[in-house]
Order: sequence, then structure tokens, then C-alpha cells
Amino acid sequence: MNKAENTKILPGEIEKQREIIKRLRRWNDSQYHYSQRRRLALVVTYGCQQNESDSEHIRGILGEAGFDFCDSAADANLIIYNTCAVREGAEQRVFGNLGALKHEKQKRPGLIIGICGCMVQQEHITKQIKQKYKHVDIIFGTHTLYRLPQLLWEAVSERRMAVSVGHTGGMIAEDLPVRREGGVKACVSVMYGCNNFCSYCVVPYVRGAERSRKPDDILKELRQIAEEGYKEVMLLGQNVNSYGKDLGGAADFSDLLGLAAEVEGIERIRFMTSHPKDFNDKLIKTMACCPKICSQLHLPVQAGSDKVLRDMNRGYTRADYLEKISKVRSMMPEMAVTSDIIVGFPTETAEDFEQTLSLLQEVRFDSVYSFIYSKRTGTVAESLAPVLADKVVHANFDRLLAVQNQISKEINDSYLGKVYEVLVEGESKKDPSTLTGRTSSGKIVNFTGAPDMAGKTVSVKITAAQTWSLFGEVQQ
Ligand code: SAH
Ligand code: SF4
Repeated sequence: MNKAENTKILPGEIEKQREIIKRLRRWNDSQYHYSQRRRLALVVTYGCQQNESDSEHIRGILGEAGFDFCDSAADANLIIYNTCAVREGAEQRVFGNLGALKHEKQKRPGLIIGICGCMVQQEHITKQIKQKYKHVDIIFGTHTLYRLPQLLWEAVSERRMAVSVGHTGGMIAEDLPVRREGGVKACVSVMYGCNNFCSYCVVPYVRGAERSRKPDDILKELRQIAEEGYKEVMLLGQNVNSYGKDLGGAADFSDLLGLAAEVEGIERIRFMTSHPKDFNDKLIKTMACCPKICSQLHLPVQAGSDKVLRDMNRGYTRADYLEKISKVRSMMPEMAVTSDIIVGFPTETAEDFEQTLSLLQEVRFDSVYSFIYSKRTGTVAESLAPVLADKVVHANFDRLLAVQNQISKEINDSYLGKVYEVLVEGESKKDPSTLTGRTSSGKIVNFTGAPDMAGKTVSVKITAAQTWSLFGEVQQ
């Protein structure tokens, strides 16, 4: 058995879970028979697209187990919070919501409450839930999602808290049920975990070491989603440039992109996240050569000062980053570049922050996701004392937003009067009288058109631009 074959959860284990899904289905069917109403599940997702993707598997399992889905906690018989640990704010929101459910559970003792995801991969959090949130029925981590059927069965049949938060030694669970939202876009994870240990980040601790799915498994899933009618795929990983390092040379990320581009029916490919230290020439060439790969690159820089980048353990300098951006732009001038920035890393001084602002001006990102630094238990940066006062950090954050919003608007203005190919996603949620779609560069375009355009690529002339979206007219 080669290394790649060795990394899957044994099929027998997945089969066992499938048997329990059937048992849950029979149980749900009997409840239905009695009440003429399907039991309803609510899955609430916090955090990144990886979590969204995990939630699609949770819904897949629950759907096969006979649950229907709802949007409100008051209607739900089963509530699962899929949590994020990247920043403290998200954790506090989950605790707030969990606390509020205590009352609901007293009113409806049959309600099942589950909590899963990155938060519960932290020992201190799981301990806190077990001690203070005894109304929780199920706890499972990012590594043990595939055991949800078993945990759910234990919770309903034995009426006790069912917990599974261990690591699975880097094993990957393939062939889990999945229930996607539908539409034109689908996310597919190509790898899990992260080996980078940026000094501020909890991800490597909660998601474990990097492990790649085998190309064949990914391609099988891509063919499947193409058959289901999806046109665009987002390939997911914490650092997709590391893809394949654990597969013994079978394929790297550029090779995988090449294989994905051959899947018939998939018209557009995006991916995230690329880490600047591993973002290489081969990948730039692959992006330039393959028309299906979208003109959008998310390349988080985090900070503009070399000192802060070093303290963050990012593994590149400002100059390295700028050089990569200029390579990308010299080969693909139309490329939209987006980034993540952390404001208020503990060692960041006023001068360091000015360097982040100057980097924004120099690169001119299309958009930036900015975050105020949040201290995370167990990380290297946890012990660092902050140089800047909270008030200053918040003021810096506002300044950064103002600078970036102006740049984003100026870039969007440059789309005015030009025609772009837009993949139509459907009616706009805000205004059902308009359609919405995206350019290859990821810009949202709203326009008037017939509903049957959904799923098609149409030419749209841009007539108005805002900071976050564009408006246009379909070209006949
Ligand atoms: N693997 C990706 C994304 C990881 S989490 C990457 O390396 O870019 C998404 C973003 O959250 C990060 O890019 C970073 O900007 C932010 N982030 C991570 N830890 C954080 C922390 N402790 N405080 C504030 N922002 C954080
Ligand atoms: Fe966190 Fe850094 Fe890994 Fe991204 S690369 S997940 S920021 S440790």
C-alpha cells in the first residue's frame, strides 16, 4: 500500500456509519408516521469556506438520515453549530447562542443540540462546554465529522452527551454524503490542515497537519458536480500551494489544476488560499495558460512591515510579496488580486502600520478582508504584549478600510463601459427583479435579464460601479 492509499479512513468504518444512517432514517420515518411532519434540522456555520464545505457534508448525512431543513432555531428538532476558532469574537457568539438554547431545551427536552468544528478541537473549550453547557447533546471535531451518525444515534437512544473530538492521525474520510445548496458554484476541498504555524493562528492546532486528497478522488467529485449542473468550482485548502507534498510526487497543485480543467462541464475554476511563500512560477504559468482558471488570486499578505511578517512567521518579506504580484500582473494584467490583513498584531508599531497602508497603495488590491488581531490560546503570539493601545488599533483598522474602499471603488470604476463575460448565478437576493453573476475576476455584476439565463455565461456591459459590486446591461 502506498502512502496515499494509507491516508483514508477505512471503508469499513464509513460503511458502519452508513448503516447507522439507515437506522436513524427508520427512526425518523417512524416519527414521521406518528406526527405527519419530518423532523427539522438547522445547521449554522461560522467562519471560512472550509467550514461551509463541512456543513454541506453534515447536511448530507442528516438528509440521508431523514431530516428536512429549516432556518429557525424555534422550528428545529436538531440544531448544529459548526464553529470557527480563528478569532475570539466568533467563539463568543457561539457561546451566546448556546446559552440562549438552554431555555429552549427546557421547554422542548426532545431538542438535540450539537456543536462541532474548530472551536471544539481546543481542549479548554470542550471542557467549558461539558461543564457549563450540559444541555449540549453532541460534540464532534473537524477530524471526526464522519462519526456524526453514531454520535447522533447515541444522543437519541441513550440520552447522554456524545463526544468525539480526537485527531484521526491525518486520515481523510472520503465518500461522505453531501448536500450542496444548488446553483452554479460548488466548493471542493482538495486538502485539509496546515503546517505553517503562523504565530497568531490557531488553524494548525485545530485542523491538524496538512493532508491531501488523492487526485482521483477529487476528479471523481468534480465529475459528479459537473453532472449535477455546477459550472464553477472553488478548490479549497488552507494553503493549496502545499497540495500533494504528502502524496509522494503524484501531483502538485498546478498538476491538479490541469487535471481539473479537463473535467467536462466545469467552466470556471477558482481556488483558495494561496500562501505567498509557496506561490510559485509553475502555478503562475498554469494560471496564465489555462482559460478555465479565473482571473482572481487571493494571496493573503497579512502585513506590510518585514518585522511584523517575521514575527508572524510568514516566511516571506514585503519585497518577495511585491515581486510575486508583479510577476502575476506582467503575465496576467487582468488578474484581480485580493488579500487578508491583520491589524494590531502585538509587535505592530505605528510605523509598521504605515507600511501596511503603503503596501495597500502599492499593490492596489481589488479587495481586502481585514481583521483586528485576536489572541488565540496555544499560539506563539499569545504571550506577546501589544505595543499599541486598543483604541489606536481600532482607529488604524478604520483608516485601513477607508484607504482600501477608495482603491476598490477606483478599480471598479475602471470596469465602466467595458464588456465582461458574466456567469449568471440567478436572481439577486436583495432585488429579485435583477439577476446577479460574477466576472472571471470575481466581481459581482447585477443586471436586468430573463430568469432562464441562470447557469449561462452572458456578455454584460458595465454601466455603474460601486465599492462592492457592478451594474450592467446584457449585450445581445
Ligand atoms: N490559510 C489561510 C487563511 C487562514 S484564516 C491563510 O493563510 O491565508 C483566514 C484569515 O484570518 C487569515 O488570513 C488571517 O488574516 C486571519 N486570522 C487568522 N488568525 C487570526 C487571529 N488570531 N487574529 C486575527 N485574524 C486572524
Ligand atoms: Fe493559519 Fe498561517 Fe496556516 Fe493560514 S497559513 S491557516 S494563517 S497557520
